Amino acid sequence: MAEQRFKPRVVPIQPTSYAQQQACDRLDEELEHIHEPISNKVAYVKSQSQTRNHTCHWIGCNRQVPPALWGCRQHWYMLPKHLRDKIWATYEIGQEATMSPSDEYLEVADEVQRWIQEHS
Ligand SMILES: [Zn+2]
Repeated sequence: MAEQRFKPRVVPIQPTSYAQQQACDRLDEELEHIHEPISNKVAYVKSQSQTRNHTCHWIGCNRQVPPALWGCRQHWYMLPKHLRDKIWATYEIGQEATMSPSDEYLEVADEVQRWIQEHS
C-alpha cells in the first residue's frame, strides 16, 4: 500500500496585497457594525423617553427612568466608572425595545447588582 504523503503547497506570501487589504477593511467595517461606537449609543440613549413603566436598577430605587437608561442620574453616577464603561460596552441600541439584551450585557448587569449589594 502506497504511503500517502502530505505535500505542502507553497503559496507566496504577500502581506500587503490589495486583496488582503480589502479583507482587512471589510473586517473593520463588520467589527464597527457589531461594536457600535459608544458615542452613538450615548446619543441614542439620551434621546430616549419614558415609553413604559421602568424603574432605576439601583436596589430600592423606584424612580422612573426611560427604558434605554440603566438607572436614574444619581445612582448611575454612584456606580464606579469601570462598571459604567462595561454597561456602555455591552449595551446594544434598541435592546430595551426588543427586550433582548445580550448575554454579555446580562452578565454585566448581574455584576452591577452584586457591586450595589456590597456597597450599600
Ligand atoms: Zn435610582
